[in-house]
Amino acid sequence: MPERTESESRKLLRRLRDSLAEPGAGQERLDRITHIIADSMGCEVCSIYLFRDEETLELCATEGLKEESVHKTRMRIGEGLVGRVARTLTPVNTANAPAEKGFRYMPETGEEIYSSFLGVPIQRVGEKLGVIVVQSKTAREFSVEEVDALEVVAMVLAEMTELGAFVGDGGAMAGLHKRPVMIRGATGQEGAAEGRVWLHEPRVVVTNPVADDPLTEIERIRAAVSELRVSVDDLLAAESLDKEQKQVLEAYRMFAHSRGWLRRMEEDITRGLSAEAAVEKEQSTARARLETVPDPYLRDRLHDLDDLSNRLLRILTGQGKDTGAEMPDHPILVARNIGPAELLDYGRKLKGVVLEEGSVGSHAAIVARALAIPLVIHADRITAEALNGDPILVDGDQGIVHLRPEDTVAVAFRDKVAMQAAAQNRYASLRDLPAEAKCGTRISLHMNAGLMADLPSLAGSGAEGVGLFRTELQFLIRAHVPKRSELAAIYSSVLDAAKGKRVAFRTLDIGSDKVLPYMKRVEEPNPAMGWRAIRVGLDKPGVMRMQLQALIRAANGRPLTVMFPFVAEVNEFRHARQMLMDEIARERALGHALPERLEIGAMLETPSLAYAPDAFFEMCDFVSIGGNDLKQFFFAADRENEAVRRRYDVLNSSFLRFVRHIVDRCAAAGTPLSFCGEDAGRPVEALCIAALGVRMLSMRPASVGPVKHLIRRVDLTELRALIDRECATGTANLRPTVMDWLAGQDI
Ligand code: PEP
Ligand code: MG
Repeated sequence: MPERTESESRKLLRRLRDSLAEPGAGQERLDRITHIIADSMGCEVCSIYLFRDEETLELCATEGLKEESVHKTRMRIGEGLVGRVARTLTPVNTANAPAEKGFRYMPETGEEIYSSFLGVPIQRVGEKLGVIVVQSKTAREFSVEEVDALEVVAMVLAEMTELGAFVGDGGAMAGLHKRPVMIRGATGQEGAAEGRVWLHEPRVVVTNPVADDPLTEIERIRAAVSELRVSVDDLLAAESLDKEQKQVLEAYRMFAHSRGWLRRMEEDITRGLSAEAAVEKEQSTARARLETVPDPYLRDRLHDLDDLSNRLLRILTGQGKDTGAEMPDHPILVARNIGPAELLDYGRKLKGVVLEEGSVGSHAAIVARALAIPLVIHADRITAEALNGDPILVDGDQGIVHLRPEDTVAVAFRDKVAMQAAAQNRYASLRDLPAEAKCGTRISLHMNAGLMADLPSLAGSGAEGVGLFRTELQFLIRAHVPKRSELAAIYSSVLDAAKGKRVAFRTLDIGSDKVLPYMKRVEEPNPAMGWRAIRVGLDKPGVMRMQLQALIRAANGRPLTVMFPFVAEVNEFRHARQMLMDEIARERALGHALPERLEIGAMLETPSLAYAPDAFFEMCDFVSIGGNDLKQFFFAADRENEAVRRRYDVLNSSFLRFVRHIVDRCAAAGTPLSFCGEDAGRPVEALCIAALGVRMLSMRPASVGPVKHLIRRVDLTELRALIDRECATGTANLRPTVMDWLAGQDI
């Protein structure tokens, strides 16, 4: 077998390219390729295995193995040596394949006579496509040069696959970007939507994986890397960077200046790849490592390298983010991640959002919630699988995405959407009716909001007001601290749009997961329990004072409701309340109109506040339970952590008893109580919270109808008696009992 040299590798790539340029169906091309590779590498066997579906590899073409095994021999990922290459995305190189651990004997192929085996993955930037294998009878390990050469060949095959070179008869690669894919992620926002993929960052298309003139390609890559370095240096020179942005850019700079990165790409170019294909080959290796690295810091760095590779590819190809493609009807945004301002730019055009990363409390998730569009997060590999315009179904309730769904799946999904729409129509007919239970108890239903975009829902949903206006969104979507006049104008429009209905403005709740882009990030070991919300407002009062002034000015004589988040003890509330009173006095002195009526409330989000002195409940004009935070601290279960966030149920008797205690404390002081966490919008949970005596619930606009519908059908006094009885008898979780009770009434 000849020693591989770089020029031989280039010759092989040229032969491949020329062969691919010849006419012929997909299968014919694959057959020709295996022949060329075996011949050129001096091996008896060359085989190409491609993914049939996510789990199964199929022998699609071979030179040297028995012909009848083509399209017959299949293995699961991880099975045999080929399956191992596919799973680990690293080459297997052995002189004695049958003796290798995990070797699987496939009698139909006749491969048992071949001793040496070299398999490398065919992959393209996170997309696993298959495995290419060369085998020979002589027992020897393949040289480093041969491994490199086969990897370069695999890269070319991956690029050609992407361009559709093997689509055709015989089923070879017929499935790429065509087969239905179901991706299980996590719920970011409930709801269901059907539409077409719109990629936030369209893929860069590389049309020339093989290059004739390495010197020109090396010049191109060096020029592009220089341009990249300058652009990263320019970004770093910008003044307005916070510590975190600086850190990311420093990492970018490190990679951009890395000699190893450029050297490896240059070596691949010398072996015959074009500059673009060389960048993608390095990117693919980094993506493959990403799958196996558990360390979050290293993963971040690999992500940085990935971003940088995309930038480099855009410089090389001149392809910007705007490809001129037209956004399809019913667009579903697909992205690795997206910032809140960018998502807001798309606005209500979008029918849904699917992210590869993201988190329940991320800014993008908050905006998706405000826009009331379904959001699925942690949808692994969606950006590699999806193409612009692909049909896609987003099931936000289950956290599942169906890409290019089978007809049967689409039909079932449409049934579900139609049922939801029918239910919405039914709820619409209740819009002007009160949420009055059979026992005559009236519950006041309000909605949560955070953007002007939410306000149109106020009239349509049947909500009596806004029970929680999260003011941080206005801060999160800007690159700078908003001015007082800007805020006053926004709050004033909110009050205008509410047309006299009550709006409870919650002062800034930043810190924890909500970090402002322009604020210095404070590294905290446990940010949810750290310096956040009112703690920041009291320690650094400048922004809170400015916000309070903006609220008073926005009210301009109209009634004003303000609530302070995350109060843990009475003195925090006392101080915050005093700050507001000071601002009122200041505005009075300035001769500005004062609110006709002022309500000042506290959010009860820490268990400690439920045991505050009576003076606290007497001082508050109202208390609002922030159930999301309260639940996480009550059960000590992080609301952001997928592993535990669903572990505890609001209908757990401990939590219900706790809510009952808060109800009693408020009742003793005559202080109105509301509940504004996500559970207020879940009909069964809402029912139990109301039965315990919470008379006002604030929820997402879409939940008002379903909650009202259920409340009107039950007797809350009866449910209260049931809850008290069950709690007394020691039932741990009341959900089964409550569900049985509802079922007993045909609900
Ligand atoms: C809550 O904690 O329940 C709440 C309403 O506030 P947020 O979800 O914004 O923390
Ligand atoms: Mg909260």
